[in-house]
Amino acid sequence: MPGERKEGYSMAGRSEDLSDGIVSGHNCRLGGETHIKIGIIRCEEYSAKCAGKNCFPAVAERRATFAGYADELQLVGFDTCGGCGRNSASKIVARANKLRDSGAEAIHFGNCLVNACPWADLYGTEVAEATGLPVVRGTH
Ligand code: SF4
Repeated sequence: MPGERKEGYSMAGRSEDLSDGIVSGHNCRLGGETHIKIGIIRCEEYSAKCAGKNCFPAVAERRATFAGYADELQLVGFDTCGGCGRNSASKIVARANKLRDSGAEAIHFGNCLVNACPWADLYGTEVAEATGLPVVRGTH
């Protein structure tokens, strides 16, 4: 259900629970799960310059924000925000919903989005609310 916290969600390390489904830092964990599916959303503008050269190794090597996940971590999708939304989250929410429908249990925002997008906080709040999934700030 949108906005509802996923059962068993917990964090370790220097993670910060912002209590709205948005999580910062490393070592995010979906407690008790042995097979976790995640999706990544990155900056559309930056995607022209980067095909995920840092995100994919971080997933494969369980580094940074992926460090605390279960051994069986499956990336179900790697999408972009859909382009600058000018304070509207509709495009990124639609893409996050597709990732959720593909089985994602958490959505990671790429570092490019987190570090450079003026709407990153708005997007995080809206995606968490619309999907009912935890939104993790950062990938590597
Ligand atoms: S809305 Fe933000 S994340 Fe998307 S392309 Fe524009 S700056 Fe990048």
